[in-house]
Amino acid sequence: MAKVKASLPLQMAIGMIAGIIVGILAQNTPIVSDVAKFLGDIFIRLIRMVVVPLVFATLVAGAAGISDTAKLGRVAVKTMLYYLLTTMASVAVGLLLANIMHPGAGLNLSTEGLQAKQVTPPALSDTLMNLIPINPVEAMAKGNMLQIIIFAIIFGFGISALGENGRHLHRFFDACGEAMVKVTGFVMMYAPIGVFGLMAYTVTKHGLAVLLPLGKVIVIMYLGCAILFCCMFLPLVKFIVRIPVKRFVKGMLEPFMIGFTTCSSAAALPSNMRCAEELGASRTVASFGIPLGNTINMNGTALYMGINTIFVAEVFGIPMPFDTQLTVILMSILAAVGTMGVPGAGLIMMSIIFVQVGMPLEGVALIAGIDRILDMARTPMNVIGDSLGALVVSRLEGDFVDKPEKEQV
Ligand code: ASP
Repeated sequence: MAKVKASLPLQMAIGMIAGIIVGILAQNTPIVSDVAKFLGDIFIRLIRMVVVPLVFATLVAGAAGISDTAKLGRVAVKTMLYYLLTTMASVAVGLLLANIMHPGAGLNLSTEGLQAKQVTPPALSDTLMNLIPINPVEAMAKGNMLQIIIFAIIFGFGISALGENGRHLHRFFDACGEAMVKVTGFVMMYAPIGVFGLMAYTVTKHGLAVLLPLGKVIVIMYLGCAILFCCMFLPLVKFIVRIPVKRFVKGMLEPFMIGFTTCSSAAALPSNMRCAEELGASRTVASFGIPLGNTINMNGTALYMGINTIFVAEVFGIPMPFDTQLTVILMSILAAVGTMGVPGAGLIMMSIIFVQVGMPLEGVALIAGIDRILDMARTPMNVIGDSLGALVVSRLEGDFVDKPEKEQV
């Protein structure tokens, strides 16, 4: 195939549009949907292959390069604070929007035969205990990001404590990180085809008929994402990060599209780290904050939880007084933190909120039919929220690397 001169995000956009068209034309054609799924799955597997070595190597090298441990503590506190505040704001936007627009008013949907599994939140002590890997190799094999982060930081500090003797090891991990960034670049060459496959599969699977009855929720969800992006993300870019909005939007296109098409922020992680650094985030902050955010910071998912709680309450005629909505905010933060960066994880975590505020679990099953479409909206917000966090914290730490207009890789 001749090499196309278009930039990668443009190639991905073309793949996406072609996928939508093929998906529409090939409704009810299983062979097309199977081939599309095959092409898309190759992409997701390739990206997931990169995640663990990339995060581990860059984080070890980052921690080994920090002689001032208090600095990492400061970065951690600022990052967590940013995640907490933006997640809280995201649920609040979702609740506000749904209270104004009433997504479920007048809907009389049959919930007969619908069933959803209940998920109970783990105890706090278990959650904290599970941060410590018993076996770091097992944590890597299972892709347990929080455990990998903890071990990588401690290991990096170990290297740093070796002083001169640790120099080679430090350089080794630095080079491994660089190599994994290159590998990400190779994997991304396949992205246009992968994106094509994922879109074609999604459209063949979720025809328009599924979407129509719940169209209002979908519209509110996409509107909520636009509000988050324009009223929360962009002001942070302009006033705290202080880079041109246009540059940010252009720089984030690639991870945005990976999030949109794969519905997995874990899949967007390698590209997200690279793009955040290209925009000026420091390597230390980005290699710590973005993988951490990938598991605990979910702006789009928090918004989705706010909107859907009101939606289901309206469908089932359950009153939602102000204090219950405050509980929803709190539970959504916890549920979003516990959501993994994989497709559909947010839907499962919704049941935690529903149980807490006494709503029927059939509500979760009600949303399941359109969840992929909602996931396509919330995942890019989860992804961008993470890299923006790294940019904000880099700026607040005085580590931001101001660059002239950067060319795309
Ligand atoms: N799909 C989302 C993500 O990967 C998680 C969710 O389902 O809300 O970020």
